Amino acid sequence: MQKKDSVILMDENGKRRDGRAPGDLRPIHIEANVLSNASGSCYLEWGGNKLLVAVHGPREAQPRHLQDQTKAIIQCRYNMAAFSVGERKRPGPDRRSTEISKVLSEALDAAVFTQRFPRATIDVYIEVLEASAGTRCAGLTAASVALADAGIPMRDMVAAVAAGKVGDTVVLDLDKEEDNHGTADLPMAILPRTGEIVLLQMDGHLTADELDRAQTMAIEGCLEINRQQVEALKKCYQSDDNGADNAGYADSDGGDADTAGYDDSDDGATDNAGSDDSDGGDADNAGSADVDADNAGSDDSDDDDADNNEHEADEKIDDDPQVTETFGSGGLDPNVSLFDEKEGDE
Ligand code: UDP
Repeated sequence: MQKKDSVILMDENGKRRDGRAPGDLRPIHIEANVLSNASGSCYLEWGGNKLLVAVHGPREAQPRHLQDQTKAIIQCRYNMAAFSVGERKRPGPDRRSTEISKVLSEALDAAVFTQRFPRATIDVYIEVLEASAGTRCAGLTAASVALADAGIPMRDMVAAVAAGKVGDTVVLDLDKEEDNHGTADLPMAILPRTGEIVLLQMDGHLTADELDRAQTMAIEGCLEINRQQVEALKKCYQSDDNGADNAGYADSDGGDADTAGYDDSDDGATDNAGSDDSDGGDADNAGSADVDADNAGSDDSDDDDADNNEHEADEKIDDDPQVTETFGSGGLDPNVSLFDEKEGDE
């Protein structure tokens, strides 16, 4: 029996308040492609959390000083609705949401092939409708699905979950009471294919051994969450033969289930970068968008540099058998220019 602040967090049988074992996740439900006006979207319920994520872009970054000549920037905005928690939350950004937006942008930046879209921004809006601990991990998990749904090429989808400590026990996926009354909270996100850690934060105290166990538990949790992300995309694009059309893109890259980014093969990924013709087709789609992006450039030499870097980077990526690309709903239409010349002129 473990108590803190008079709240019983774990019973004598090692079960948590909601009956979970220490290594269990709360129930998760993920739905992709839920908004028709966004480039990509995802609705996620996870325990008592409810979130909606929309992706907009890639589009030309404005104002221009935000632009990176070599890659796209990821601008993530995490927002908790005023009605998302028991006590009304003051609307608008605060220090916490600014910090979360920053760390989530950085985590997603590690996943997206940002070099494909120089000078662009990819906007990710995370709206927390109901919050019950673990919202940054839930937001990151849903954002990855929304990016895949938007057809943004990625190394992998980021999967995230927090581990922590309740009394003396290391546990996975803390609920609100455990977050409030537990002794440590360790949000973590990985790229499941490589195991690369793209987010790691810690609140509270853990011994080195407990940190080890918490990380191992979180990695296992992330792998399960990743399976559910993949399932959500498959469900979305395989249940409807016109999946790509639903998202408003032409079928230019062909294949509906494929365009969801995943196939039925064991490796989970459809599009090994440049490994065969059909993959090449998809990669070309992203490449075509780059050409369009280049058209908007005002300085050719800059463009060339950016392109060279980008292609070098892509070649390295293509050589790496570990690296796969995910493509969402029909990918990017090569006939649509990313940037409007007029908008670009300030
Ligand atoms: N929370 C709240 N009001 C706030 C911020 C957070 O009630 O202004 C709650 C909310 O349920 C959130 C939990 O505290 O999920 C834990 O917040 P934390 O900062 O640890 O981030 P999270 O675990 O959601 O990523």
